[in-house]
Amino acid sequence: MSTLVFLEHHDGGLEKGPLGVLSKAATLGGDVAGALVGSGVRELASQAGKFGAGKVYVWDDASVEAPLPQPRVDALARLVEEEGIETVLFAGSVLAADVAAGLAARLDAGLNWDLVDLASQDGELVGMRPALQDTVYVDVGWTSAPRLALFRSGAFDASAGGGGEPEIQEFTAELRDFSTAAVMVEQAHEESAGPALEEADVIVAGGRGLGAPEKFTLVEELAKALGGAVGATRAVVDAGWYPYAHQIGQTGKTVSPKLYVAVGISGAIQHKVGMQSSSVIVSINKDGNAPIFEYSDLAVVGDLHEIVPKLTELVRQKRGS
Ligand SMILES: Cc1cc2nc3c(=O)[nH]c(=O)nc-3n(C[C@H](O)[C@H](O)[C@H](O)COP(=O)(O)OP(=O)(O)OC[C@H]3O[C@@H](n4cnc5c(N)ncnc54)[C@H](O)[C@@H]3O)c2cc1C
Repeated sequence: MSTLVFLEHHDGGLEKGPLGVLSKAATLGGDVAGALVGSGVRELASQAGKFGAGKVYVWDDASVEAPLPQPRVDALARLVEEEGIETVLFAGSVLAADVAAGLAARLDAGLNWDLVDLASQDGELVGMRPALQDTVYVDVGWTSAPRLALFRSGAFDASAGGGGEPEIQEFTAELRDFSTAAVMVEQAHEESAGPALEEADVIVAGGRGLGAPEKFTLVEELAKALGGAVGATRAVVDAGWYPYAHQIGQTGKTVSPKLYVAVGISGAIQHKVGMQSSSVIVSINKDGNAPIFEYSDLAVVGDLHEIVPKLTELVRQKRGS
């Protein structure tokens, strides 16, 4: 079995999501490689070794610096066709979703998306995918190679352990005409003090129960004390209380942190589908019958305006910050 993981990089490091997928792929055996495309990325490639990559294919060139999908489709298609890759795995991200879809179309290959697990059963790869708004898990497979899979963000922990120095194989691919049609006009980074939502181990999310946009500082302070990221419901995003990039749920981001703290959130099904695979869910709501309590590990019934500042203070004391 020959598996390729699409690696992404940011700010001089490899992203945790694809490294988690790499760690998972390494547990399934066979040849596991990473693909790294960008400018100035050559020196990042070796980082993938300790997450299980035996080899990293690197295309380091100014022509592929912008994080645009089509040149990466060209790159991965070339690797699949010429290196005998049978399976290509992607961690959930906007870029990865575009590349995976483009590659599926280019190679006429089957793509299973939103997977939360992958296993090898009797020599066949079987993916696990939540269905019916995350109420059941279904097994999914592929009828032909190459098999493409896009995982839900946070599906796997990036565990550095095995592996050593990977073999680095430089490569290039011919860019199709239409692959160079799009140009990156500008790239802006949102200034944020904490970790990115998709990468965070802790998320503190706020809902309409906060009562006013300025009350989001309560959520921000708690997130900061816990070293986590800030999430939001659609209700507050639609109301303009917090940016859309932070929305969690059916029409927002899907996350699965180790700890999810829901503050003043009712727990509508559309919110639930974006966060219910969090390891531990703690909810603070003044309504003891709020639906979110049905799927919380710890239910705190009370006024968030009283509870959250005290909780933040307590966390700061415990962590000595
Ligand atoms: C097609 C579609 C897609 C959608 N996609 C999403 C999505 O991606 N993400 C999403 O979140 N929603 C989504 N929604 C909206 C969703 O249905 C809910 O309307 C929304 O999640 C509710 O947000 P909320 O919990 O902040 O607000 P509310 O439902 O208004 O809940 C506020 C909660 O705060 C509690 N509260 C009030 N005051 C306090 C206090 N002082 N202390 C403690 N608790 C307090 C209340 O008891 C209540 O439970 C979608 C809806 C549709 C139709």
